[in-house]
Amino acid sequence: MSSSRVIDIVDELEGTLRSCWTGPLGSRQHVSLHEPEFVDADQEQLRLALESGFVSSVGKSTESFSEALASFFDVQAVVPVVNGTSALQLALYVSGVRPGDEVIVPALSFIATANAVALLGATPIFADSVHFEVDPRMGLSESSLEELVAGYHFDGALRNPTSGAVVKAIVPMHTLGRIGNMEMIRRFSEKYNLAVVEDAAESMGSHVNGKHPGSENVAITSFNGNKLITTGGGGAVISNNLSMANLARELSATARLSHPWRFSHSRIAWNFRMPALNAALGLGQMANVSRRLASKAELYSRYFTAFSNSYFFEILPEPVDQVSNHWLIPVALKSEFSGLLTEVLDGVNSRGIACRPMWDLLPLQEPYRSHKSSSLEGATVARSRIICLPSSPGLIE
Ligand SMILES: *Cc1c(COP(=O)(O)O)cnc(C)c1O
Repeated sequence: MSSSRVIDIVDELEGTLRSCWTGPLGSRQHVSLHEPEFVDADQEQLRLALESGFVSSVGKSTESFSEALASFFDVQAVVPVVNGTSALQLALYVSGVRPGDEVIVPALSFIATANAVALLGATPIFADSVHFEVDPRMGLSESSLEELVAGYHFDGALRNPTSGAVVKAIVPMHTLGRIGNMEMIRRFSEKYNLAVVEDAAESMGSHVNGKHPGSENVAITSFNGNKLITTGGGGAVISNNLSMANLARELSATARLSHPWRFSHSRIAWNFRMPALNAALGLGQMANVSRRLASKAELYSRYFTAFSNSYFFEILPEPVDQVSNHWLIPVALKSEFSGLLTEVLDGVNSRGIACRPMWDLLPLQEPYRSHKSSSLEGATVARSRIICLPSSPGLIE
């Protein structure tokens, strides 16, 4: 009985998706979740970098890419690094996170958010996200934050009463490109004296009234192959706080004192800096970024219309307070069909259409099973009902 129902759902899903695609990627045998796209500007920038001979840690393109990004995000400083995870480590470190501290992260995120905390020797503790039917931004939930730290002592620093560890920071993650309730995060962080580090790996191009991630806090983004633009692998620390950005830049290199020939270093540093060859690709990609954003907005509006009368699915509305980059476009199975999520994903993927669920919740994953967590209703519902649809700009003509 359930299998003929599954076939009906997969048929509707496939038909609806195909009716929306007008671009070249939509007629392929295999349709991916989010594809990179390379244009003439990419070839040209890579050619220039190769001709210059500077492809590594010295080279103009890393600086030029950093400037292009600072102008895009409308901030004082951007530090390009090797990936989003290393950017997050740097951002947490310059925000004061040290071994033994606790850091609040969403249970509903890609594992890099927690790993960056753990790699610094700090401890991620997990909060819930708002139910997508209550708030389609799916940001951290205020009541779960209070639940998570109930029983902690606050004496200017927020302390775990058992271990004495200080909660040093909170990491709101902009889920699928949707910026959460940053007003609430600001209130909560001021109440408990927490640094705010925005994981904007998925949300390059999203903004609230022109305010991009990093304008009021330290933020990071990612240029992995499946993100809005790619440098092969890459990421960046984004901030209006010059002293934090400068420290991040120093630590992303080797903290070498400026001198024409001497090797003298002021501290232990990570060497996370983005190679000039990757930055050259990033410069090329910037030439195409507004077109990619426009195609994704068009794809979202087609999906929205096409799914609005669906029997099986509800499409998540666009957050009203912001311009979203629509990194991955989510639909949810209606609650009466949520038990069929796995079979629907199997079915649609076997037809060559890449659809993905949300991530397995972080506190349920092997490395974080023993970590503290609030109750997780919102994240659990998202994991059990949401399907991320193919969202490549190239699906639109
Ligand atoms: C992509 C991503 C990152 C960073 O990923 P890298 O592969 O290290 O660039 C971090 N957090 C989230 C939520 C992501 O989606």
